[in-house]
Amino acid sequence: MEQYSPPNTSQRVDGTIPPTDEERIAELVASHHVLYDHGVLDGFGHLSVRSAADAAHFFMQRGGVVPDDVTAGDVIEYDENGEPCRAGGRTGPSERYIHGGIYRARPDVMAVVHSHTDAVLPFGLTGAPLKAVLHTAYFLGSDPAPVFDIREVMGQDNTMLVDNPVAGAALARTLGDRSVVLMRGHGMTVVGPTVHDAVFRAVYTRVNARAEMEALALGEPVFLNGFEVDRGDPVSIHWAWWAAQAEARRASS
Ligand SMILES: [Zn+2]
Repeated sequence: MEQYSPPNTSQRVDGTIPPTDEERIAELVASHHVLYDHGVLDGFGHLSVRSAADAAHFFMQRGGVVPDDVTAGDVIEYDENGEPCRAGGRTGPSERYIHGGIYRARPDVMAVVHSHTDAVLPFGLTGAPLKAVLHTAYFLGSDPAPVFDIREVMGQDNTMLVDNPVAGAALARTLGDRSVVLMRGHGMTVVGPTVHDAVFRAVYTRVNARAEMEALALGEPVFLNGFEVDRGDPVSIHWAWWAAQAEARRASS
């Protein structure tokens, strides 16, 4: 049997986060295109990476650009309050406080993905528990993913968006020490110790949600148990392959 070898790519595949902001931003840009390919990002959504030079800050796209069009020139720096800094007057997406709130609360988190992924929405609406049914979604764990309801923090008269620091901090509290938080009537936010992990988790949360929903239509799904979720995957190899595919798609379009 032929041994699998990852495609040629300039991206690192050793499972660590790059030591420079330049490299982190390059991964961030490529990840937008990967998440578009996998139906996690459409016209909405954004992802960010913690700064190497200032660990309280993070990098994310500016406002007003759709994810698949993001280039390094669209990425700006945000401070610990989630506000743009050194941005040359450019503003951020209204939901930048998702990222600011989580980086403040979770020193272990290096990357955050926020999306309006369709497959997870029913689990944020019904109380049906989103839990790992696939080995590739081990990070979901064997307890239900927490669900954030904006009404609980902003009241009935809310915007449905995490568009202020109070809502950002509340979302981070609901996430707790987990990898994924569902957002009622909105989508999900996924975190990871590297950009590669956050992307992998966002992709497989969607796959798991679809598989679980289809299983629920047929009968009672078997969830992974506490031993089965205690695993890892070489996510960087998958990420590099996805990034090469996305690059090829963009080059041919
Ligand atoms: Zn959103």
